[in-house]
Amino acid sequence: MFDNPARLILAMAFIPPILLFPARADEIELLGRSEVPVDAKYRATADTRTYEFRPTLVLINDSGWTKKLLINASTHSAEILGQCGVGVPVINLITLKTSEKYKDPDRSQRIDLARGISPAAKPLVFFIRSSGDVMKDAFSYGKSNTRSAELKDTVWVKNALSDIAGIALAHELVHILSNSGEHISEPGNLMNEDADTTTVKLKPDQCSNIVRRGIENGFLNPKD
Ligand SMILES: [Zn+2]
Repeated sequence: MFDNPARLILAMAFIPPILLFPARADEIELLGRSEVPVDAKYRATADTRTYEFRPTLVLINDSGWTKKLLINASTHSAEILGQCGVGVPVINLITLKTSEKYKDPDRSQRIDLARGISPAAKPLVFFIRSSGDVMKDAFSYGKSNTRSAELKDTVWVKNALSDIAGIALAHELVHILSNSGEHISEPGNLMNEDADTTTVKLKPDQCSNIVRRGIENGFLNPKD
């Protein structure tokens, strides 16, 4: 997953495109990859040790999401995770142009999308318009709730959520970091099953679990 990209690209050149894109290549087109710096004050708010976290965010053109909305949501989620000492130094952004059906992807189309941007460092966060087969406005796949290698460690955020997208995104990223679907019903806690503008807090034991599991899963790098 964190292999040298140059080597992977080289390796990919020898694989027929049909294996990489079971969807027709013109249905999922990679428009670009970029790194957007995160405002320094959101890199981490803890005074203690910090842990670098680099998810890959995927913007789908004409999904209702814009680069600005995506960056706002990601910055807000970085601010929330900062209370655990988790810092997001840059937003790794991939922009896709897709045919209409991939803006509201069902499960097999989600697999196509995840496969279509490979190689990319996980977790992958897809900003989609909607999805007919999942009712929740944001959802994720951990290591144990899917058998699809492509879907493991992916987060899907629908456009309906734009006003609290940062909170929903932080919530889903905690599921991925801690590799757990656990919810708690405590007022104001980020891990309530339903997100609203007040559910942003994490308790010290949640933070230590996120950090420990995040390091074990290879998603967090301790910074001195
Ligand atoms: Zn949840």
